[in-house]
Amino acid sequence: MVETLSALLQEGRTFPPPPEFAKQALVTDASVYDDAERDWQGFWAQQALALDWHREWDTILDWQLPFAKWFVGGKINVSENCLDRHVQAGHGSQVALHWEGEPGDTRAVTYQELLDETGRVANLLRELGVVKGDRVAIYMGMVPETVAAMLACARIGAAHSVVFGGFTAQSLKDRINDAQARVLITADGAWRRGSVVGLKDIADEALADTPSIEHVLVLRRTESDCAMQDGRDLWWHDDVARQSAECPAESMDAEDLLFILYTSGTTGRPKGIMHTTGGYLTQVAYTHKYVFDLKPDTDVYWCTADVGWVTGHSYIVYGPLANRATSVLYEGTPDHPGKDRFWSIVEKYKVSIFYTAPTAIRTFMKWGDDLPAAHDLSSLRVIGTVGEPINPEAWIWYYVNIGGTRCPVVDTWWQTETGAIMISPLPGATTLKPGSATFPLPGIDAGIVDDAGKPVGVPGGGYLVLSRPWPSMLRGIWGDPERYRETYWSRFGDKYFAGDGAKRDDDGYYWLLGRVDDIMLVAGHNISTTEVESALVDHPAVAEAAVVGRADSTSGQAIAAFVTLRSGVEPRDELVEELRDHVARLIGPIAKPKTILFTEELPKTRSGKIMRRLLRNVAEDELLGDTTTLADPTVVSEIQQRAEDESSSDDA
Ligand code: ATP
Ligand code: MG
Repeated sequence: MVETLSALLQEGRTFPPPPEFAKQALVTDASVYDDAERDWQGFWAQQALALDWHREWDTILDWQLPFAKWFVGGKINVSENCLDRHVQAGHGSQVALHWEGEPGDTRAVTYQELLDETGRVANLLRELGVVKGDRVAIYMGMVPETVAAMLACARIGAAHSVVFGGFTAQSLKDRINDAQARVLITADGAWRRGSVVGLKDIADEALADTPSIEHVLVLRRTESDCAMQDGRDLWWHDDVARQSAECPAESMDAEDLLFILYTSGTTGRPKGIMHTTGGYLTQVAYTHKYVFDLKPDTDVYWCTADVGWVTGHSYIVYGPLANRATSVLYEGTPDHPGKDRFWSIVEKYKVSIFYTAPTAIRTFMKWGDDLPAAHDLSSLRVIGTVGEPINPEAWIWYYVNIGGTRCPVVDTWWQTETGAIMISPLPGATTLKPGSATFPLPGIDAGIVDDAGKPVGVPGGGYLVLSRPWPSMLRGIWGDPERYRETYWSRFGDKYFAGDGAKRDDDGYYWLLGRVDDIMLVAGHNISTTEVESALVDHPAVAEAAVVGRADSTSGQAIAAFVTLRSGVEPRDELVEELRDHVARLIGPIAKPKTILFTEELPKTRSGKIMRRLLRNVAEDELLGDTTTLADPTVVSEIQQRAEDESSSDDA
C-alpha cells in the first residue's frame, strides 16, 4: 500500500475514467461540452424537458442583468416531479429513503409513502391558512418527515426556509423574522452523538420574539418532554395523521419562489439566498444524474450533508427525488457509536454513490485507515466531495481508502448561490487530477479574470466568474436587492463574481484557490491559502491546516499557519522547521509560513468549513468578528490563548 500511495502521489499523475466504469457510464464522450455550447439555452431547455410541466414555457431565458428569469410562462410543481410522476409510472414501492436513525432504528420509506405523508402535511398547512407565497420555517433533524415537510411546502407553493438543527435560538429567530415565516415545523428533539438536542425548547426560546409565527407543528422523535402552547402548537402525530393523503398540487410559475436559504457564514453575515422553481429543479436534476452517473434502478445514493445546507436541499432532497433515486438518509454524526459509523452504513445498504465534504475526509484521515478497511466498501462506484477545496493528499486518501482505486472522485465546486453543481468532472468522460474540480459542466460558462476584470489566459489565475446566467442561479437576496447587486454584480460588471480565487493549469483544468478575501500578498506575490494549506497537509504529520496573512513590516503580509496533527503525532519545535521547509520545497521559499501554531482543532462553521477570518483576527491580535455561525466558539478562544502564550514566550 505504501508503494501504491507514493506512486499515486507522484506529481502530475492523472486518473482517466477506469475502463470498467466507463463501460457503463451515462456520458463517456466529451462532445457533450461542444454540443451544449453550440446552443446553450437550447441545451438547458432540453434538460428541462426531462421534467413534467403543466404548461411549457414561452421563453427559455429573459436576462435583465442581474435578474434572470428561466422558462418564462412555464407551469410546474416540484413535489409532483419528485413524487407523483414516479408513483404514476409504477415505482410507488421503490424505496425513496433508507433512513438510519442515530440510535440504530431504521425505516424504509417508499415513494408512495413519501407522497402520502407529503400530501397530509400539505393539507394541514392549507388548513392552517398557509397559502401560495407564504413562508414556512423548518427546524428539524435528519428524519424523513423533514423531507416531507419541504415537499409539502413545494406542493402548496409556500417557500420553505430550512434552518440547520444545530443552530442556536438566536440564529433561528433571526432567520424566522427575516423571512416573516407564518408557520414553524420542528421536532421535540434530535439525536446527536448519543444525546438529545431539545429542538422544541430551543425553538420556544426563539418563538418568544417571532411575531409572524402563527402555528408550530411538532414531530415527536426523541420522546423528550417539551412545552406545547395551546392554540399555537400542534403535534404531527395528531394533526398530520388525521389528514387525507390526497392533496392537489398548486400549479406554480417557473419563477415562483421555492425556498430561501442562508449561506453558511464563512465570510460574514449570512445572506438569505432565493431560489425559484423550474430552473432550479432542471439544473439540480441534470447535475445529480450526470455528475453521479445515477442509475435509479440499481444505485443506492448517499449524501452525508445536512438538509439545513444547500447540499442537502439540492442533493438529498430535490435532485435525487426528481431522478427517482434510492437514497440513504442518516440522522446522526460519523463518530457515533463508533468512528466507523459511515462505513458500516455504506456496507449495510450497499451504497454505490457517496457524496461528502473535505472536512469529513480530513477527519477520517486523522482517525486512521483501519476503520474503513474493516468494512466491505466494494459497492461504491462514484465518490464525491463539496464544500471546500480538497487537498491533493486528502483526494488520494479518499480515492484509495474509500474508493478502492476503482471509483472516480467527483470534486464539485458550487455555492448556495449557484443552487447546483457548476464545475465538476463527468466521471465517465473526464480525466481527473487530484485537487482540481476539472471543468465547468456542459451549459456552464465560467472564467477567470484579473483585478481589472480582464480575462486571464491559460495557464493563469485570478478571480472566478460566471459569464452568463444558469438555470439554478440565485434570484436575489431576500429583502435586499441592493446587497444582491453589490455582492455579486458590482465588481466585474456583467459577470457574476463568485468570491473565490481560481487558476487554470496548462491543460485548462480549474483549481479552486479559496476565498479571494483570504488571498495573501507576500513581498509582492499573491499566495493562495489553499496552496499553502495543501503543502502542509502533504506532510505525513499533518491532518489539517489553515493559513492566513498577517501584517508584516518587511514583507507586507506574513503567513501565519494553524496546524492540527494526525493522531499519535506530538507537537515539537523541530516540526515547525520541518514543516516550513516542506512548504518551501513544494511551493517556494516565499510561501514559507512565518509562524506555525499547533492546535487541537480549527475554528469551523457549523457546516464544517474552516473560518479563516477569525484566525486572521487572532493572528492580527484583533477583536473577533461575528462568531454566531461557529460550530464551537471555544475553539477560537483556545487558539487565541495559545497564540498569546506563544508570543509572550517569544518575548521572554
Ligand atoms: P458565506 O457565503 O456566508 O461566507 P459559504 O460561502 O461558506 O458562506 P456556501 O454557499 O455553503 O457558503 O459555500 C460555497 C463556497 O464553498 C464556495 O464559494 C467555495 O468557496 C467553497 N466550495 C464549495 N465547493 C468547493 C469545491 N469543490 N472546491 C473548492 N471550494 C469549494
Ligand atoms: Mg459564499
